[in-house]
Amino acid sequence: MEDIAAKDFNFGQSKTPYGELFYDAVQKAQTDEASDIHIEPTRTGISIRFRILGDMQPPWKKLSTDHKLGFVNEVKQLTNLSIAISGRPQDGRISIDPLKLDLRVNLLPTLYGEKIVLRLLDLKRNFDLDRAGFEVETLHDLKDATRFKNGVILISGPTGSGKTTTLYSLLCSIDRKKLNVITLEDPVEYSLPGINQVRIDSKINFSQALRAVLRQDPDVILVGEIRDEETAALCFKAASTGHLVLSTIHANGAAEVIGRLLNLGVEKFMIASNLRFSCAQRLVKRICQTCAVKCPQDVANDILKKAGVDLISRDGKSNFELADDGNGCSACRGGYTGRIPILEYMKGGAIKDFIEVAARDPPRLARTLKEAAYYHAFQGEIDIREVLNVS
Ligand SMILES: [Zn+2]
Repeated sequence: MEDIAAKDFNFGQSKTPYGELFYDAVQKAQTDEASDIHIEPTRTGISIRFRILGDMQPPWKKLSTDHKLGFVNEVKQLTNLSIAISGRPQDGRISIDPLKLDLRVNLLPTLYGEKIVLRLLDLKRNFDLDRAGFEVETLHDLKDATRFKNGVILISGPTGSGKTTTLYSLLCSIDRKKLNVITLEDPVEYSLPGINQVRIDSKINFSQALRAVLRQDPDVILVGEIRDEETAALCFKAASTGHLVLSTIHANGAAEVIGRLLNLGVEKFMIASNLRFSCAQRLVKRICQTCAVKCPQDVANDILKKAGVDLISRDGKSNFELADDGNGCSACRGGYTGRIPILEYMKGGAIKDFIEVAARDPPRLARTLKEAAYYHAFQGEIDIREVLNVS
């Protein structure tokens, strides 16, 4: 089952000023809905910065050089990293029960000292596919892909584009009572009820774990990432023998995923007959409904023309808006409230056609990123200028 080396952390009990400061930083980060805390050594000391809605923020606090070693050592101690080791990367994880929060910790030696990044994992969070913010049709197609008993569903996208969240939400939308669901993850981020999660580490890699899992009578397997030929081959073999496989892969788009699979040596016919859904995901900031301003229709038309979006006919009136960039109001952070996942994707039939006539025709995408952004802009959920930005 669950294999997280999280240890309890006696939160708030720290008696030292450095411990107090760390405690304040974690609380502030949680209140501000930051995804990460960066403790960065600089030439003149230490700066503590947060990442919020995907963007790094100006320093929340700066400490002078005299505090550098003391503070970093205290943080190492509080987060279960070894203070006996310095100058080498370290990973750790701690649970902060009173805040219902886990912190995934990573330390990296840099020119001016050890830099520590803490990823905040909110344990109260639920992975509800219906409430993730997907476009209605995309949501429908995603669910459709998970209804197959076998096949492969692949998500590509840069780090921090919400791929894991989408995969978790897909798993949680599957009827876990009737199925044996196993995940292989590096590292396990959240523990999910009713799902068997395996941690990939230096002792066991994806392909070794996948071979073992296939002997455990699985129905659905989540493979954290396909990054080598063996794992790619095993995923498609598993799919062709009656398993549903979900994974991520490094590629720049839905069609590029297929090129990447071919590079990894997966046979064309295996891709054509097993790949059900191929997509590229991005996260786009959701605008605050309180302080956003209406975008004049002529400005909107200009933007859409520039973006080259084929205007999809939509029911109802367009509601294009502009975020109050950088300012915002008391109801938001700089004009935004959270982020929405947008997908460029191809479905099984189009994937098959693309592989068979690839040389002649461009891929038949069910949605491009720009079209997906257009949809959300039309509903007034994101700033219309994002239609130009997504790529
Ligand atoms: Zn606002």
